Amino acid sequence: MGSVLIIGAGGVGNVVVKKCCQVREVFNSITLASRTINKCEKIQKETNNQIDIAQVDADNVQEVVDLINNVNPDIVINTALPYQNLSIMDACLETAVHYIDTACYEPKDEAKYSYQWQWKYHDRFKEKGLMALLGLGFDPGVTNVFVAHAFKEHFDEIYKLDILDANAGDHGHPFATNFNPEINIREITQKGKYFENGKWIETDPLSIHKSFDFPVIGEKEVYLLYHEEMECFEKHFPGIKEMRFWMTFSESYLKHLEVIQNIGLDSIKPIIYNGVEIIPLQFLKALLPDPASLGESTQGKACIGCLIEGVKDGKDKKYYIYNVCDHEKCYADVGAQAVSYTTGVPTMIGAMLMLQGTWMKEGCFNAEELDPTPFLELLGKYGLPWTEKIL
Ligand code: NDP
Repeated sequence: MGSVLIIGAGGVGNVVVKKCCQVREVFNSITLASRTINKCEKIQKETNNQIDIAQVDADNVQEVVDLINNVNPDIVINTALPYQNLSIMDACLETAVHYIDTACYEPKDEAKYSYQWQWKYHDRFKEKGLMALLGLGFDPGVTNVFVAHAFKEHFDEIYKLDILDANAGDHGHPFATNFNPEINIREITQKGKYFENGKWIETDPLSIHKSFDFPVIGEKEVYLLYHEEMECFEKHFPGIKEMRFWMTFSESYLKHLEVIQNIGLDSIKPIIYNGVEIIPLQFLKALLPDPASLGESTQGKACIGCLIEGVKDGKDKKYYIYNVCDHEKCYADVGAQAVSYTTGVPTMIGAMLMLQGTWMKEGCFNAEELDPTPFLELLGKYGLPWTEKIL
């Protein structure tokens, strides 16, 4: 039994809250805090007032410290934005509370995401006997667990890893992002990067693409992106020689993205508009549909998995592990689309395993450093069944 404080009442926060409510034997007290209190009120109402709510600016460490002292949780789940990771970790250290998040830290003024900042907290968490579990959504998160499972059960050596993420859902909007638009557009408009023979190779944004035949969804064009779990694998599985991350985008998404870039609406450099400083990308975010509102209209499926090549008992082996998720089933379960759902369900399971002691360790960890088996045993039970195939 434990008390949980969830910070961030967006698409993912909504899923985490409602999944925690489904496991009251573990999460006996649930508080949701966020910057905009009426988003917390909406979720509170949808849970039939099973949760407490609070307002917080998570950029302000002292506000988070005061909130934690007030709520007295065993664990803080950060479902706000990557910008808030360090301030919430600082507050957890000050109040001696465990921590979990869904994406690695990113400074507001530079579109550069890396675990380096959060890994530096390892000794401080360890000294305090606390755990910080970093980047446990689906990708990163479950993909890290999939690779750990592949090493544990299927391979002596992995030489090639492709992470493939397809969202074939249709939300009915000409352009919308399935998670926070600002974070999403910063990620996609960055240079791509892949790992080959121990070196990172940079590519122009979305310049490399190919087609891939996804289970259930079928053939889709996938685009090469840099993604943070590859940074973890370089550190924790140094034997992997080749790594690539691929994601699908609809034609309509790419067409709109091109226009947005051409007119500079993706810029994170402040400009003065009518005497007021604004950031074009934040202005664009204010115009776009809120990802938390897309659940009701989204139909179709998403599929995320890892295609792995390596050696077992001296023989070459090719292996694929994946989940297929149906947007409408996610909506029926917790009122969310599949991208929020595939992120929030793993976060809830990670928090559960930490509170139960199964995954509890002192320091900062990524999911591949923990035993994948207990996590994978729960993943299907809580809504994300997975399939593995030897090819
Ligand atoms: P949303 O924008 O829907 O939600 C973010 C929430 O955080 C909003 O409610 C927002 O408040 C709140 N927030 C932002 N800044 C602050 C602050 N300073 N203090 C308090 N609350 C704040 O985003 P998503 O739910 O789509 O994404 C949440 C996280 O999940 C992101 O970090 C994203 O990168 C990550 N993610 C991870 C994935 C994975 O597979 N690992 C996949 C998808 C997302 P307000 O309403 O006031 O704006």
